[in-house]
Amino acid sequence: MSAAPKILVADDDQALSRTLSWILRENGYDVVAIPGGEHLFEHLSADRFDLLLLDIMMPKVDGLQLLQRLKSDERYRDLPVLMISSMPPEEATVRSLGLGAADFIPKPFRVRELLARVKAQLRVGRELGEARDEARTRGELVDILQEVTASLKPDEIYQILVRRVAEALRVSRCSIVLARPGEESGTVVASYDNPAIRSLGVDLRRYPEIRHAMDTGEPVLIKDVATDPLLNDIRGDWQSEGRDFPCRSAIVVRFSLRDQPAGVFFLRATGDDLPLDIGDLQFVEQVVTSAVAALEKAYDMESAMTGQEKLRHLAETDPLTNTFNRRALTEKLEQEMDRAARYATLLTCMMLDIDNFKQINDTHGHLVGDLILKQLAQLLKREQRSPDIVARYGGEEFVVLLPETNSTESRNFAERVLKRVAAYDFGEPGRPVHVTISIGLASFPDERITDSRSLLELADNHLYRAKSEGRNRYRD
Ligand code: GH3
Ligand code: MG
Ligand code: MG
Repeated sequence: MSAAPKILVADDDQALSRTLSWILRENGYDVVAIPGGEHLFEHLSADRFDLLLLDIMMPKVDGLQLLQRLKSDERYRDLPVLMISSMPPEEATVRSLGLGAADFIPKPFRVRELLARVKAQLRVGRELGEARDEARTRGELVDILQEVTASLKPDEIYQILVRRVAEALRVSRCSIVLARPGEESGTVVASYDNPAIRSLGVDLRRYPEIRHAMDTGEPVLIKDVATDPLLNDIRGDWQSEGRDFPCRSAIVVRFSLRDQPAGVFFLRATGDDLPLDIGDLQFVEQVVTSAVAALEKAYDMESAMTGQEKLRHLAETDPLTNTFNRRALTEKLEQEMDRAARYATLLTCMMLDIDNFKQINDTHGHLVGDLILKQLAQLLKREQRSPDIVARYGGEEFVVLLPETNSTESRNFAERVLKRVAAYDFGEPGRPVHVTISIGLASFPDERITDSRSLLELADNHLYRAKSEGRNRYRD
């Protein structure tokens, strides 16, 4: 239960002031009475009042002047003031209302009328206060949005927006539809009533309000779906489909990204919701303004990220075989050696070279040679485990790094690869080329291996031995 409304009575007429106070207290109000207006502002700043009853004619100060001061002070501008006076009603009413008084009570007053007016003003004051609190909350919401959305992905921002806007305005339906002016279809990227939606095609011919906002850029406020002329054409369709009105009121606000119209906020209030009004529209516009900045930033970040990733991919990858290039291998090898040394784990380096590749090129042509390189890379990638690293080391030489693999395991791996390569039909379909490879293995730890270079050297030495001892084999 909230406290009794607090009323300040400022009147120099002691008898009247006492009577007034008594009546108001009897009716459940909390009353402070002051004799005259001299100390009015001290009392106002010392306490929080819901209503002021102010006499117009007091000996030391003019009630109307006080009213004027009050209304020009931001702190008290919204305090409802009831003026009490024995001045001729017309003159007093006009003058005091013109200065911002809430109402006017002529002396002598009738108790019931006085109480009715007090009650009415308290209600108006309370509603005003609530509206202002709500406006503040809404202002805060925009701040929150700006903050929260700054670093997120566009997709997540859309989800947050529909949820927060729907909750703030207490509507059951709120969606974001991406579209372009003049187009007949759009994509729902977020929907409060169905959070699973990420990308749903929508026929905009069924939504003239969206098309209107999209095409003109004007915000749309449909107070009553049943009568709004914008929906005249579609309303017939609903009726012929035997459907009820899908909602009661609606708001559509277009938004642009990088100055290009990009889509709309689409809010609908159903029968259970409060109807949407101009205040809600303004709120949505406010949200849109702040969201657009966040969205643009998120889209920028997204494209910057992919741009960066693309660059890194390009810098690390051998374009023919789509494996790591030699430069990337050097880096990875360094990291893997560090890790193996620090955590005392194993690392095997497998170096392999196509046998007689010069001859293959000579026989089948350079293009087929290229194709074979690609196919070998794919075969190696298929055989690798996820931590393994496949790199093109030179022309027809590849290196596979096998972390946490001991010499037995790496021998098995080498055997398997040798078999797969020998059994594989390389080259173009219908014209198989048979290829073999030779492999050199080196596994860390080993007293001959002190760094990544000596690991590669040892693998290379073993590869050389495999070649000189007949090819199509591994050595370690
Ligand atoms: P070995 O069994 O001793 O390794 O004999 P090999 O012929 O493979 O050895 P060698 O190193 O003498 O020849 C490698 C050949 O690989 C030479 C070169 O023409 C070819 N080669 C290198 N890079 C590419 C490439 O990107 N595409 C094609 N088609 N051939 C390449
Ligand atoms: Mg070779
Ligand atoms: Mg070679």
